[in-house]
Amino acid sequence: MQQNISRKNICLFLSLACFISLIINFFLLHQRINLVIFFIFISTNILVFFYLLQFFSSKNFLIGSQIENIQEQINIINVENKKSQEFGAALKFKITRYDNLKKVIEDLNRSLRPEVVVNVLSATVYSLISNSCGTALFYLLDNHCQKLNLMHSIKEDKQLAIFSKEGDIFDYWVLRHSRELIIEDLKNDFRFDLDTVQSQEIRQVLSLISSPLISHHSLLGLLRLESDKSASFNQDDLRFLSLVSGLGAVALENSLLFQKTQDLAIHDDLTGLYTKQYFIGRLKDEAKRCQRLDQRLALMMIDIDFFKQYNDKFGHIAGDIVLKKVSFLLKDNLNELSPLLCRFGGEEFLVMLSDIDKQRSLTIAENLRQRVEREKILLRRQNTSITVSIGLACLPLDTKDEDELIQQADKAMYDAKRKGRNRVCCT
Ligand code: GH3
Ligand code: MG
Ligand code: MG
Repeated sequence: MQQNISRKNICLFLSLACFISLIINFFLLHQRINLVIFFIFISTNILVFFYLLQFFSSKNFLIGSQIENIQEQINIINVENKKSQEFGAALKFKITRYDNLKKVIEDLNRSLRPEVVVNVLSATVYSLISNSCGTALFYLLDNHCQKLNLMHSIKEDKQLAIFSKEGDIFDYWVLRHSRELIIEDLKNDFRFDLDTVQSQEIRQVLSLISSPLISHHSLLGLLRLESDKSASFNQDDLRFLSLVSGLGAVALENSLLFQKTQDLAIHDDLTGLYTKQYFIGRLKDEAKRCQRLDQRLALMMIDIDFFKQYNDKFGHIAGDIVLKKVSFLLKDNLNELSPLLCRFGGEEFLVMLSDIDKQRSLTIAENLRQRVEREKILLRRQNTSITVSIGLACLPLDTKDEDELIQQADKAMYDAKRKGRNRVCCT
């Protein structure tokens, strides 16, 4: 380049020198134009012309190739820009997901009810992963029979029926392997037989992701997202589902433990009936409600006759079996009346029946007494039976005070004992 410029300068200089000498010859020396100088001038100019032509065409070529280079760089930058835009969008999408996760954790921490935990988890993965398309399913595992139970479902198509309430082959695959499952296109997945899958369910599933909920090495259930289109989920979606399931498993276990503790606190562990303390609280509330609505309420105090003798004869364990049997008979016999049942202590039970008048409650109590009397309890290959004495009191007929109601029922029960047991008495 530098060389080109100096050559051009020399040519220009020569051309200029010839031109000046021509001028001097013609004007200053008043001579006719010297043919030699004129020839040199013309030939130098032709040389300069061709040189400049070559110079500018090479410069043109240089500029052209530079433009091409720049264009190439623009293309590279455009591709990189597109890539970084896509990366930025993916990152933004991930940040939104993880931002929402913070809210989910807060929601999970706030709730100690398993059904709320199940709902929050299903709704989270349905909106953040599925984009509110397809179906989200939440199954809980029943540890006793190792069966799944569908607890919650969110469906894009509200008419869609889920027949596999106990899970299908995909769910049992997750259960068996205790790990995540992704199916991008069921038609190309060699692990599952398409015909078996289609014969099991009427709804069409082409892609799905599923993750088990494992806490302290025990499997609690599974969370599944599915679609009737192929390739609806990718590995990123599966990773996020697995993360939500991990967090959810801890929250779910806590809520299940809390529910169990609550259940234990209000239920008698031998009979499963309500404890005395819980029952009295509910009785007070119910009594107030009945008074407000001008309804009636019946209370039965039930005591097993000669239970000490039974215990002495057959043993304490046999006595426990009898207590369970009586509890079962109470539930079974009064089921339709939605009673509140309580083990009041030892071999005494309380039954609260809402909105039932005294006459009807007397009939119910008598039927119950007869049912207990008829029931045969098999002990050591021997048929045994028991009887009960029942005391009955009603609100507002016998008293308007709920504390006094229990005393009245107790008094009536002792009347029944005094009168020879195995009978119903009322105040
Ligand atoms: P009555 O007809 O007058 O009611 O006589 P009873 O023998 O049923 O009454 P008593 O109050 O004399 O005896 C109650 C017995 O209940 C004494 C106790 O051993 C028994 N009992 C209390 N709680 C339990 C329990 O959880 N399991 C068993 N097996 N027995 C219990
Ligand atoms: Mg007794
Ligand atoms: Mg007693």
